[in-house]
Amino acid sequence: MSLFSVRNLVCHHGLLAAVRDVSFDLAQGEVTCVIGANGAGKTTLMRALAGAHTPSSGSIWLNGAEVTHLPSSTRFRSGIAMSPEGRRLFPDMTVRENLMVAAENGRSGEWTIDSVVGAFPHMEPLLDKFAGGLSGGQRQSAAIARALLANPDVLILDEVSLGLSPAAVGQVYASLEKIRNQRSMSMVIVEQDLARSLSFADQIVCMAEGQVELSGAPSDFTRDQITAAYFGIHEGEAAHV
Ligand code: ATP
Repeated sequence: MSLFSVRNLVCHHGLLAAVRDVSFDLAQGEVTCVIGANGAGKTTLMRALAGAHTPSSGSIWLNGAEVTHLPSSTRFRSGIAMSPEGRRLFPDMTVRENLMVAAENGRSGEWTIDSVVGAFPHMEPLLDKFAGGLSGGQRQSAAIARALLANPDVLILDEVSLGLSPAAVGQVYASLEKIRNQRSMSMVIVEQDLARSLSFADQIVCMAEGQVELSGAPSDFTRDQITAAYFGIHEGEAAHV
């Protein structure tokens, strides 16, 4: 049985089907990167997984129990935590206070403020600074740390490297690598940097126009196959990119 399972998920924005019949499974300790061009439906899918967008049909399962209709707050407490695109920290609270809110509302477990600071050591000097004054990379680290404090079974990260300097991206991924290796955390990550996705993921799910074009281990595909799927180009079609 998979830890986390998405079955035939369909999500709309009004009449637009932004996610169409998406299915994938995530095993314990596995990292799945969702890739695809702008507008492919990645953020809508992540929001649906976290309970922030109500799907039109399909189902989402965690540890064999259906969570499709649980509100996001209940889903957070039952083991699915998301760090959203745009990070959304409370800007007028310190980093420590932001983390404490998550710790108080999440499950108890091995992730505490001390252990997340162990995974993100560059955050230690920032704990008493206001979140509104952080750089993009610092905000991203704090937002991921906040999601971890829910002690989730599945950590969902939307647009990990968006807007970050290469150095900040390197720092965030070094921390994610630690979390993955030391704690065997299962993650679903939207990453716009294709090379980064392919090197970090156990599995990739490539979306185009709301649908899964390709999924599996990165090593199962050639770079050309992945690029074609990324742009939704099918065999016999010319690339207009
Ligand atoms: P990006 O990388 O640009 O964020 P994405 O792959 O995350 O793209 P989504 O943001 O999920 O894709 O958008 C999928 C489709 O749904 C797009 O056509 C987008 O314009 C549309 N869409 C997204 N959010 C809304 C909304 N709140 N209202 C209406 N349409 C929306």
